[in-house]
Amino acid sequence: MSARGALTLVAPLAGWSGPLAEAPDEVFANRMLGDGVAIDPTAGTLFAPCDGEVLVLPATRHAVTLRAAAGCEILLHIGIDTVALAGEGFEAHTRQGAQVRTGDALVSFDLDLLARRAKSVLTPVIVTADSQFRILTQSVRRAVAVGDFLMELEPHAATRSSTPAASTAASTAAAPAVRRLTVRFEHGIHARPAALLAAALKPLAADVRIVARGREANARSTVALMGLGVQRGDEIEIRAAGPDAANAVSALAAAFAAPAAPADTPGTARKVSVRVMPPAPAAAPGELAGVIASAGLALGPAVQLRRPEIEVAEAGIGVAEEDAALDRARAAVRARLERRANAEAETQPAREIAAAHLELLDDPELVSAARGAIALGKSAAFAWRAAVRTGAATLQSLEDPRLRERVDDLLDLETQVLAALQGATAVPGTALPEKAIVVARELLPSQLVALDGARVAGVALAAGGPTSHASILAAAMGIPALVALGPAVLAVADGTPLVLDAGRGVLEIDPGEARLAAVRATVSARAARRASLEAAAQRECRTADGTRIEVFANIGSVSEAQAAVRNGAEGCGLLRTEFLFLERQAPPTESEQAAEYQKIANVLGTRPLTIRTLDAGGDKPIPYLPLPAEDNPALGLRGVRTSLAYPQLLRTQLRAVLAVRPSASCRVLLPMISDVDEIHAVRALLEQLSEELGLRELPSVGVMVETPASAVLADRIAAVADFLSIGTNDLTQYTLAMDRGNPQLAARLDALHPAVLRLIARAAEGARAHRRHAAVCGSLASEPLAAPVLVGLGVHELSAVPAMIPLLKERIGSVSLAECRALAQQALQADSAADVRALATAAVPRAAAVSP
Ligand code: PEP
Ligand code: MG
Repeated sequence: MSARGALTLVAPLAGWSGPLAEAPDEVFANRMLGDGVAIDPTAGTLFAPCDGEVLVLPATRHAVTLRAAAGCEILLHIGIDTVALAGEGFEAHTRQGAQVRTGDALVSFDLDLLARRAKSVLTPVIVTADSQFRILTQSVRRAVAVGDFLMELEPHAATRSSTPAASTAASTAAAPAVRRLTVRFEHGIHARPAALLAAALKPLAADVRIVARGREANARSTVALMGLGVQRGDEIEIRAAGPDAANAVSALAAAFAAPAAPADTPGTARKVSVRVMPPAPAAAPGELAGVIASAGLALGPAVQLRRPEIEVAEAGIGVAEEDAALDRARAAVRARLERRANAEAETQPAREIAAAHLELLDDPELVSAARGAIALGKSAAFAWRAAVRTGAATLQSLEDPRLRERVDDLLDLETQVLAALQGATAVPGTALPEKAIVVARELLPSQLVALDGARVAGVALAAGGPTSHASILAAAMGIPALVALGPAVLAVADGTPLVLDAGRGVLEIDPGEARLAAVRATVSARAARRASLEAAAQRECRTADGTRIEVFANIGSVSEAQAAVRNGAEGCGLLRTEFLFLERQAPPTESEQAAEYQKIANVLGTRPLTIRTLDAGGDKPIPYLPLPAEDNPALGLRGVRTSLAYPQLLRTQLRAVLAVRPSASCRVLLPMISDVDEIHAVRALLEQLSEELGLRELPSVGVMVETPASAVLADRIAAVADFLSIGTNDLTQYTLAMDRGNPQLAARLDALHPAVLRLIARAAEGARAHRRHAAVCGSLASEPLAAPVLVGLGVHELSAVPAMIPLLKERIGSVSLAECRALAQQALQADSAADVRALATAAVPRAAAVSP
């Protein structure tokens, strides 16, 4: 047993260690007896993989069950269907009840005879299903010699029963669970879905594998999942074994059904990994063409950054010492990453990237491979580097560029752990001259974070891709960046004046004083415009002639609330509560919900906070709410219908909302309303709860207009609702009969379609008839181009993604209400969304068209 209560098993046979799923027998392959590996033996003696007692050695001598000191039972089954040999070809070197030591010979067998007469010689080595241990790491898909590291097991608290398992293998079956499904993630299993899938399993104990493209991966390992190279449309199989196997399969199936990046969040980190821009056209002499990773324009002297190459010794000083050193180094890196993942001063992408690196740091396959190498006598540094590079090589070999770009993340983690093993407390930064253009072959996220951001004018990389995390960080830091410039960029001498034009996608090398002066002027004009936008963002929003329009933010987390306030949001027009507890397997309690809402309310201060009740169902399945399968979920149990179908859930949520202070700032918003009865039902419950809680004031109750029914009935609905908020995402999908998740229709799913605009106009009229406020909180509210049209249709509030708020305020401030109304009238008469866009574009004054 190691210090952490884990049990190590060594290989009991020489041969090839493969996944148990490859055993040609359902009972073994589906882990009905427990989990483990299957060894294809190259020699005919079975040895003890650990110290223990021989619990079962049948007369047929084809299998041995050992019980290790801590009670863990291990079944060693020589070949498949070998019981039929009735002992022929087997010789026992021990007896039932004997105590054996690791490496003692247990049974010899005639490998040739087995090869001829048995179904297979593959020998499962199984940790029996009820033995209260689970496999932490294992050595698979590699040759093993007797005594090599095979697996690390840990006691499994979740399945611990009061009576120790004393059964033999035959009575240890736990029902395995298997489900096949088709992958719908837009870009297959790339980094974010892999992390979501692994996270969905965290509360569960089952061993879960995903089989795809003829390979199998541990579903808890993001590296292994990405390494499958699964694309959208691929069929995969989930196989789970263990006490909560069925729950694990359901949780994973729900995670597969969840959107990998929630909709309507352009510019936020959830979507950053799909930001792909086209390569620039061929470069002129004196220029290098690259791919735009972060748009903008910059100039400055070249400073080349080289990646630190850390020397490591191959041989370790002892397995226990090296294991402990790896643990310490990973703990040091973990502490640093956790600080960054939770630091309010960091940008949202920087926090998310730190969180992604935390996942990789604890990736079971990486850790397993490193421990395997340490068990073979390697140093912790050598073992970690070998493990990371094997994972990186797998990703590098995939066709999907998004997955290849995750290689940098792995290499970054390699550097961080190696630096920690050498005692460094931080990844070393580099001193830069003022406003430098950083040139490198590739840049690791930790290197970029360690640079003084204020001194970096731009980033020019020979390699890399636009969705690599260094690119995303550069964009979040507002640093223009070009990647894939090719090796020629590395020949540029330090100090050479450069213009990095990440609008055209070219790097100009020493372009001459006249060009430098012109670029300098443009850069400072843009900086001035950005500064004025930021200042304007903090002011109240009014049209040019003084009509008050409120600009609120859509948020789904505390950090988005912070971003909203920074960007000048005057309140929150939509808190998507379903995003607060996305990775949960059990519904959040009243106090958990109240605490999260309160954190957001605290960030917003006295600004209004519009809390939408759970919008579950449809394209937003919730793991803790296993809804019945529906033929057409977009038209099924969604939004308020789900809440009314699960009243206890709604009660809990409304009680949590009623606990938020200041209560006067809180508003309730109901999704997917299609008639007034639904509003009455929620109001009745709200009144009852307020009475129970002794409250005198009820929060105002708003209704989302996102079905054509509610838009058409807006005059009736506004009579019983306190305000209307138009959800243009769903309203567009239901009006145009185009699935909002269908990539083939994405280009035509335009909320500026005149049919949608007519419904918005109708909703705004309905609100006006009852002196109610009309807001828009769908994605259309985040488009500065659309803002004057919406204001002209009678909308008083736009609730947008935080990053767009400054531009929205500026656009609204540049037009009068009369101009907005005239534009809206023209838009209502247009024939298509394209025509409306053309009208709105023509109405943009020249100055506002200059990008900030
Ligand atoms: C909408 O449908 O426009 C909306 C804001 O709700 P969601 O995008 O969360 O479905
Ligand atoms: Mg909606």
